[in-house]
Formats: sequence, structure tokens, C-alpha cells
Amino acid sequence: MSSMQEYMDRGEEYILKTYNRFSVVLEKGEGVYLYDTDGKKYLDFAAGIAVFALGYHNEEYNNALKEQIDKILHTSNLYYNVPAIEAAEKIVKTSGMDKVFFTNSGTEAIEGALKVAKKYAYVKDSSKEYEFIAMNQSFHGRSQGALAVTGNAHYQEGFVPKEMRAVFAEYNNLDDVRAKVTDKTCGIICEVVQGEGGIYPATKEFLEGLRQICDEKDILLIFDEVQCGMGRCGSLYAHDLYGVKPDVMALAKALGCGVPVGAFVAAEKASHALVPGDHGTTYGGNPFATAAVSKVFDLYESLQIVPHVKEVGAYLYEKLDSLMAKHDCIVDHRGLGLMQGLEFSSPVGDIILKAMDKGLILISAGTNVIRFVPPLIVTEEQVDEMIGILDSVIA
Ligand SMILES: *Cc1c(COP(=O)(O)O)cnc(C)c1O
Repeated sequence: MSSMQEYMDRGEEYILKTYNRFSVVLEKGEGVYLYDTDGKKYLDFAAGIAVFALGYHNEEYNNALKEQIDKILHTSNLYYNVPAIEAAEKIVKTSGMDKVFFTNSGTEAIEGALKVAKKYAYVKDSSKEYEFIAMNQSFHGRSQGALAVTGNAHYQEGFVPKEMRAVFAEYNNLDDVRAKVTDKTCGIICEVVQGEGGIYPATKEFLEGLRQICDEKDILLIFDEVQCGMGRCGSLYAHDLYGVKPDVMALAKALGCGVPVGAFVAAEKASHALVPGDHGTTYGGNPFATAAVSKVFDLYESLQIVPHVKEVGAYLYEKLDSLMAKHDCIVDHRGLGLMQGLEFSSPVGDIILKAMDKGLILISAGTNVIRFVPPLIVTEEQVDEMIGILDSVIA
């Protein structure tokens, strides 16, 4: 058996270095706990970046995947398959939207959503150039299209083709968005709660205003719920909390709870924009990935995940507020449900490393914010355990 260091050395030798990884090799998980290859146990408040909503090693979920493996892993979108039909039906019925396109990632869900808005505008007037309005500090993914609407120079630099540039507005500033709408605008895209940008929830007035602008201009409103969706904020879809409906919604992260899958979901108005031939994918919506999605929806129901998030999210809110009151270095606390952030007066890298030493996995969002996105099955006792470790590390 190799030591962790040997594994890490081999990783550095063979895997392209686009990440500065933490010095740990994770091997397995149980509930909200992870274990490294040396057997050390960690309380996980990152969930693989808001992915593992149901926690690790959920037996019913695992069995559903094992059953699907024994039937068929992949067909092709040239044919129908039952898990994709069932999963799409569950998304449509819970969202009140019209049609689903399955992708392999959040980035691809965003790509598809952008294509829907462009096509919708193109059908109305093919003579124009189109542009998107996106938000400062947003994050939508790493492909060239998704990067084009990602409002962060750090991710964009050197990679966004000129013809794809978007126009950026200040998040939660409706006047700024209004001032930037032109005849070319074909869509407005925003996260309902900004994740990577530092955990900033939208205001109700902002989302309502975006809806109004899009209705007035007959352009599409795209909500990126890749991180904030799937129950994380205390409603199945984050926009449900606001009572504002998008024309297109992007999902991923917790949608498959570990299986790589995303989706863009179109409301009635938008779903007719794409016709056969306009978009496609080999893997997207394959029976393995969609069997996971389908089971995730069933388990959300049977485990009553959303009401649980509301309860534990409120508890976490209270505890993080107390922690802020106790430590001067914590300057702000934001978030909804089990998507919360603590902003510090200086970079949080050291705190995260020390927490890891003490068996707690945390992640940042930007340089000064610790982001709390645990598995949604987390309990109040585990919140207390996390707070205990974090408190001692800060002290
Ligand atoms: C993670 C994320 C994406 C990109 O998803 P990938 O699966 O990494 O491609 C897009 N938007 C938001 C809000 C995200 O958090």
C-alpha cells in the first residue's frame, strides 16, 4: 500500500497542474464524514463543492446505480431510455417548467442555456448581433461560452474570444442592469445566490426587476442554479424562495449527487427555440447518469431533504452569527439554507488548512470567505462539531 505522499507525488507527475490541491488523498466516505488513504477521518462541510447532498455511501442511491449498471450504462440520444424520461419528468413536475436537456456538467448546462437565448433572439431577428448581460463576481463555468459570462477577470484572462464578450452589471443593482440593456441584449444571466463570488444572495427586488426587463424586451432570463439549486437554499430550486420564474434554469452539482450530470431546463416560452439538430451530446442524459438523478429526486422526497435544510440551515445561521459576534476578524455572514459564507478581514487559506489538520474540511469562496456547503443531510450535532473545531482554529 502506498503512503499518501507517494500517491500525491504520482498525482503531480501525471495530472495536469491546473489546481493547487490540498495535501490529502481522499478514499471513501460515510454520511458527512470522509476518510483519507491513511484512515484519518474528516467532517465534510464542502460536499465535493456542493455536490454530495445525500452524503456519502447512501445505500439506496448506491443500489440504484448498481442495478442500472447491470442493465445498461449508455445508449445514445438517438434512442429513448427510461431513466432519462423519468428524471426529466421529475424535474419538469417539480419546477413547473417545460422541457429538460441533460448535460455532463454545469458548464455545459450554461452553454446550452446561452444557446437557447441566442436562438430565441435569432428566430425573431436573424440580422442582429447578440450580447448577454451577466453579473460582476459571477461564476458560470470554464468553457469559452460560460467563461464569457463569468464576471471575474481571474478566470477570464486570456481565454474569452472577443466575439463572445458579455456586458457586466453590478449584482443586485437593477439600475445598472437597466442602463446596460440595448437592442442587442438577448438574455440576462445570473446566479440566484452567487457561489464562487463569495455567497451573495440576490434580493427579491433584483430578481423581480430582471424578470420585468426580460418580459418588456422579450428576451430570456437565465438562472444559474448549478450550486444554489437542488434544495441547498431551503427550497428545491432557489428561485422558488423568491417567487420569480426564469425562462431557462441551469442545474448540476447536486443534481446527480456525485454522478457527473447537469441539465438546462426551459420554460414554455424558451423550449421551442431549439429544434432537432440545434444541440446534442453523446453522453448527456445517459441511463446511468439519469438513473442517479431520478433516485436523487426520490430520496429528496423520502428523506424530506428540503424541510431538513430549512431547519438545519437556520441552526447553522444562528451558530455562525454567534461565531461572528465572538471573533472580530469575522466581518460578515451571508447565505440561505445550507449555502452560507463567513467573510473574514483577511485571507482564509490558513484557517482552512488548520481546520483540515483538525479533521474538518472547509472551502473558500474567493480569498476572504469561508463557504459552508455541507451534505444536506447534515445534523445539528454535526453543525456543533464543525463550530467547535472552527472556533478553536480561529482562536
Ligand atoms: C460549479 C458551477 C458551474 C460549473 O459547473 P461544472 O460542473 O464545474 O462545469 C457553473 N455555475 C455555477 C454557479 C457553479 O457553481
